[in-house]
Amino acid sequence: MENIIILGTGCAGFTAGIYTARANLNPLILEGKQPGGQLTTTSEVENFPGFPEGVDGYSLMDQLRKQAIRFGAKIENSFIDKVNFNENSKTLFAGNKKYEAKAVIIATGAAPRLLDVPGEMEMYGGKGVTTCATCDGAFYRDMEVVVVGGGDSACEEALFLTRFCSKVTLIHRRDELRASQIMADRTLSHPKIEVIWNSAISEILPGEDGKVQAIRLKNLKSNTFSEITCKGVFIAIGHVPNTKPFDGTLPLDSNGYLIPEIGSQVKTVIPGVYVAGDCADHVFRQAITAAGMGCQAAIEAERWLAELK
Ligand code: NAP
Repeated sequence: MENIIILGTGCAGFTAGIYTARANLNPLILEGKQPGGQLTTTSEVENFPGFPEGVDGYSLMDQLRKQAIRFGAKIENSFIDKVNFNENSKTLFAGNKKYEAKAVIIATGAAPRLLDVPGEMEMYGGKGVTTCATCDGAFYRDMEVVVVGGGDSACEEALFLTRFCSKVTLIHRRDELRASQIMADRTLSHPKIEVIWNSAISEILPGEDGKVQAIRLKNLKSNTFSEITCKGVFIAIGHVPNTKPFDGTLPLDSNGYLIPEIGSQVKTVIPGVYVAGDCADHVFRQAITAAGMGCQAAIEAERWLAELK
């Protein structure tokens, strides 16, 4: 029986780990399919307090990991697919493996949303379709690529790709960007970036080598189709929260985000179960707000565990 299990190793999970470890709770942090969370796929993080020159996402997460370990947090790679929670017991399952804890903090984050068009899955990961410019951008040196989306992520990916690629075409389904003004301005004024408005990819087309060769594009205003030759398709259209194992146990909203108790950001309907970060936050979704929620959840859990004794 663990005192506390923390699910997730993003900003929320590691911050919860640092706080609960410093409170001598000996937390077990379970690391899922993306160790370090979404920031490990971000290049420069310029808005995390304490880094006036910016910090690369991977380094930041590595520092948080080391900080949690320094205070005694245990980290194990295990993907929880089922839970059985009530006030008195919390059981978590990773396939046949079973964990028991007095308290749980869910910080499972969110995963990139995909387009669901022909060719996408066939060429995903290594054949030209990706959701991570930081990870894969360097493979597209001097090539033409497209980025899909109109938010901060799409702009960030497009701007990052200009470092390597000869041309970046940003495809957005509406006629204005959702991104913050500063990111939109940087994107729209960049000489290597062309924006195609009111358009959606209808198909990703392979070449003879089975890798991306072109995309088929639908203009959503005129309903006409065109083709753009490109070697890479970077999809940046938002995220889906990683909350499937909790469906039926904890309340989820219509988009799958965990809903905290009214009046709290981190408490749930089950005493001793807390939420933190992007799995429960569709509004702010920032590294610093996830870290803040991880801290809140850890302090709430610590108080609840103290009352149990
Ligand atoms: P987002 O703000 O939700 O934007 C998603 C974009 O994808 C929107 O433009 C949306 O179009 C488009 N989209 C959604 N589904 C689509 C589909 N099926 N087909 C085509 N397009 C689709 O997501 P995000 O850009 O990942 O940002 C998430 C949060 O993180 C935001 O709060 C953002 O500010 C923050 N963020 C900040 C930074 C930074 O500050 N450096 C970097 C990255 C992210 P519509 O506009 O038409 O809805």
